[in-house]
Amino acid sequence: QPSLAEAGALLTIDLSALRENYRLLKSHLGATRCAGVVKADGYGLGAAEVAKALLAEGCDTFFVAHLGEGLTLRAVLSDGPEIYILNGTPPGAEAEAAAADLITIANSLEQLAAWAAAARALGRKLPVALQVDSGMSRLGMMPGEVETLARNPGLLEGVEVRLVMSHLACADEPEHPANAAQKKAFDLLRSLLPAAPASLTNSSGIFLGPDYHYDLARPGAALYGINPTPGKPNPMREVIRLSAKVIQTRTLEADIGVGYGHTFRTTGPLRAATISLGYADGWHRRAAAGAFFNGVRLPFVGRVSMDSIIIDISALPEGALKAGDLVEMIGSHQTVDDVAGHAGTIGYEVLTGLGHRFHRIYE
Ligand code: PLP
Repeated sequence: QPSLAEAGALLTIDLSALRENYRLLKSHLGATRCAGVVKADGYGLGAAEVAKALLAEGCDTFFVAHLGEGLTLRAVLSDGPEIYILNGTPPGAEAEAAAADLITIANSLEQLAAWAAAARALGRKLPVALQVDSGMSRLGMMPGEVETLARNPGLLEGVEVRLVMSHLACADEPEHPANAAQKKAFDLLRSLLPAAPASLTNSSGIFLGPDYHYDLARPGAALYGINPTPGKPNPMREVIRLSAKVIQTRTLEADIGVGYGHTFRTTGPLRAATISLGYADGWHRRAAAGAFFNGVRLPFVGRVSMDSIIIDISALPEGALKAGDLVEMIGSHQTVDDVAGHAGTIGYEVLTGLGHRFHRIYE
């Protein structure tokens, strides 16, 4: 990674806040186990560092999306913790996944058959998770496939079912009727399959109450500070701080255009700073938020560029901000969810879209 001198911005990841978030979720879960979802490189924050921090809290089950992510994570965690591949193992890569002690999620009878065949070829039982589609219509065995499986238990020969799982489509809307409908469908589908630990909830689902908890919860977003209860105060701690460096400050004349497209014109002389962060760093072009310095909000002027943003620093005393100083873009004054709101998107997209040229500090 670039040093702070070489980089345009600083990303600080507070692993103690992440660990506190894990503990908070666990406190809601009673006897239910709590996994960590670390796909997309730990929602952009570094799967290795995140997983190690969660491991230190006693987390022994991790979920990634892709085989490649699983292989990378296995190299970090060595043996012990379970690593599940949410999207399933690509056809032909089953032996590679099994050799790395990864657990595939069979999202269809086809994926299950390939995994069972790999187990027979290896001459040992392979663990598997069965995902059933309880109503999200994205991934998982369809009810007809579950019925076929129930009638043909031989399809499970060679595998050991570690988990039966499903995913909620509307968990962040507690009153949405799809939640109860999915729970009902999940219970029915589960009853057709061999008894195994069950898992239904993501972060928001944990806050739907114990009926949704089953044996294992699979939070991602809330661990990283995203509010799992939209519309209500965020119970989680913020995990990241993003600060951008000031490249230069200057006074712009009255009545001139600023930035691409001259979408902003000065009305009078304007003290401005150009900061070293842009859409190439994952800052959405539409997120016309502000920067903060000593608690003072400094609004953006003009468009967000690829590597820079111009901010109005008139609210600061003259000379208070100079080249090389850091202004806060995400942190105590403006959260990931706030920035997402400015961009018309969700915190997940802000986090996973964060760029790769920051200087990163884990604390
Ligand atoms: N389980 C599955 C199957 C997922 O796809 C995801 C992420 O989208 C999660 C759990 C974690 O969800 P969240 O980040 O909302 O907690």
